[in-house]
Amino acid sequence: MTTTQTHPLRDALETAIASRDEAKERWFETESTEAQAALDDAEQAVETARDAYIDSDEPREWILREEGYDYAEVEASSMQEALEIACDGVDRGNYSDAEGTIWIGVSVRCELTGEEDSATVTCEPEEPSCDAGDDHDWQSPHALVGGLEENPGVHGHGGGVIIDEVCVLCGCGRTTDTWAQDRSTGRQGLRSVSYEPGRYADEVLPVEVQRAMVEIDGAGCEQATEAAALVLLAARGDEVPWLRDRQMSALTPR
Ligand SMILES: [Zn+2]
Repeated sequence: MTTTQTHPLRDALETAIASRDEAKERWFETESTEAQAALDDAEQAVETARDAYIDSDEPREWILREEGYDYAEVEASSMQEALEIACDGVDRGNYSDAEGTIWIGVSVRCELTGEEDSATVTCEPEEPSCDAGDDHDWQSPHALVGGLEENPGVHGHGGGVIIDEVCVLCGCGRTTDTWAQDRSTGRQGLRSVSYEPGRYADEVLPVEVQRAMVEIDGAGCEQATEAAALVLLAARGDEVPWLRDRQMSALTPR
């Protein structure tokens, strides 16, 4: 009866390392030319066994590290696979204090083969839900976001820009920075997004008017309910510049 060797290459590497350590001890004791030659051969054997193990898809142990902390040991058949496990394991929920986009540094290493690799995982903040519609309606009303009139809401920042936008339904603010910096690594020129619910709530139209606008946008002016049309027409009296852009002049109550 034969037994199945599940990790022959790992066993070979461990054997080669043990032989190398013995050869090293003998060299320390004798410092002879023969011991030196034997040690060189043993070192070479370790290299060969290590390369064979690395080139194979035989599973090996990997230590996963995130933001400077070792947190798990997993088995994976390649460095790539181990790194994917580390990246997939990143959970923004563990960084609840963070605002906007964050960048999490992960790395993997195999103690036996000496392989190591690292990556950065970009975690975007979750978009808050819209208080007035199914989806936010992001726009750049100049009166609210400022900047140049032909390019509202866009402000220079380092080698990029900061873009301010407003959900004209609920008044949530969205800021995109195309020259953001990962403070832990100092890397610049990254893209970050952050949200500020209610930032412009006092400046956008009341929620019931916004709901009417959403309904009319979806159903078309002809099919919209009378209630929605009346709410909207009442709102048109407001001096809200971007309402004109929505081409509501075609709207007539039924
Ligand atoms: Zn919204």
